Amino acid sequence: MSRLDAVIVGGGIIGLTVGWKAAAAGLRVVVCDPAPGRGASWAAAGMLAPVTEATAEESELTRVGLASLTRWPRFAADLAADAGVDVELRQDGTLQVAFDGDDRRALDELLAVHRRLGLDSQWRASRQCRELEPLLSPRIRGGLFAPGDWQIDPRVVVTALIRAFANRGGRLCRSSARRLHFDARNSVGGVELAGGQVLAAGAVVIAAGAHSAVLGGLPPEATPPVRPIKGEILRLRADPEDLPFTRTIRGTARGRSVYLVARSSGEVVVGATMQEAGFDTTVRSGAVHDLLHAAIDLVPAIEELPIEETLAALRPGTPDNAPVLGPSSTPGLLFATGHHRNGVLLAPFTADAMLEVLTTGALPAEAASLGAGRFR
Ligand SMILES: Cc1cc2nc3c(=O)[nH]c(=O)nc-3n(C[C@H](O)[C@H](O)[C@H](O)COP(=O)(O)OP(=O)(O)OC[C@H]3O[C@@H](n4cnc5c(N)ncnc54)[C@H](O)[C@@H]3O)c2cc1C
Repeated sequence: MSRLDAVIVGGGIIGLTVGWKAAAAGLRVVVCDPAPGRGASWAAAGMLAPVTEATAEESELTRVGLASLTRWPRFAADLAADAGVDVELRQDGTLQVAFDGDDRRALDELLAVHRRLGLDSQWRASRQCRELEPLLSPRIRGGLFAPGDWQIDPRVVVTALIRAFANRGGRLCRSSARRLHFDARNSVGGVELAGGQVLAAGAVVIAAGAHSAVLGGLPPEATPPVRPIKGEILRLRADPEDLPFTRTIRGTARGRSVYLVARSSGEVVVGATMQEAGFDTTVRSGAVHDLLHAAIDLVPAIEELPIEETLAALRPGTPDNAPVLGPSSTPGLLFATGHHRNGVLLAPFTADAMLEVLTTGALPAEAASLGAGRFR
């Protein structure tokens, strides 16, 4: 095979999105991944939630999240058109509820952060929360409604991305990359696959999620500090005609933060734990117990639903919880990784930024704060 414009290592939502946009722009691109779409992107709840995820310390991440959220309607429509499938973006908003005085104080602080950052959220009394979602526990003291926090099914998205990428002329290689391949001038010139084949390319984009810092041959000084952060998550099954709630519901019960997301397919997602556990992806019975207990406290009616799946996956974490995008200090080596809790939300923003890098060599100004150099 002649030299490609880019090889993308990792076909999760990030690698596939970058690949799709690059192929659509006319670049010759291969995504390599032995199990495309089956990493963290398969586990994700699919909340597009820059408002309820906002913290006072991470206002830059909130800015980027909002910039990505505004791109989602167009992104979903383009993806649906290129893939030939429906990609449902649900825009019913998110309700973050309080059980006790401590929760109420935490939500007051969150409301103050939202005011400072100019984010749209409103306080709702207990009765108003139950008008929005009648099956919420009557013990709820009130909540914060964020109309602009949406959701999408990430499994539908990655399946559509695989099709859209192929329809735009991209090639998916179902193999893992073993190591980087360097040319005579010590620039990265491609990757060596598990079977020994070398894919030569002008640029290599590392989008291997939680595994982005462990590929063979990565120069330590050019590699950002990406680490795995385990998340356990559950899927329950409801009658699509009789969903127990429609808006995303978040809250803290029994000391455990929990969220519930309902899809029109009848899937009800209950998530998620956060744990530093290396590359372990076993599901602990205690995690299932805690998540279900907290979720049933919020919406008692879900206790009748069958459990369809328990799953653990690895978020790609970074020291500042923000992604790492763009060129590294090694010529030819680029990163699109470290999306931690927000990779689904940030996919459209990431793709636009990385397309600019692939075509001009530099990040656009709106993504300049996310470069790999910030950790040096
Ligand atoms: C429980 C849970 C819930 C979440 N909920 C949300 C949410 O509601 N909203 C949100 O925005 N985000 C959420 N996230 C975060 C989101 O899932 C991630 O940020 C996002 O999926 C990262 O995408 P990615 O493509 O970088 O990684 P991944 O989806 O993990 O993809 C990486 C891919 O790289 C491949 N790979 C690894 N090594 C190699 C190699 N050597 N060669 C080739 N391929 C390789 C893997 O097979 C994998 O397919 C959640 C995450 C978890 C775990």
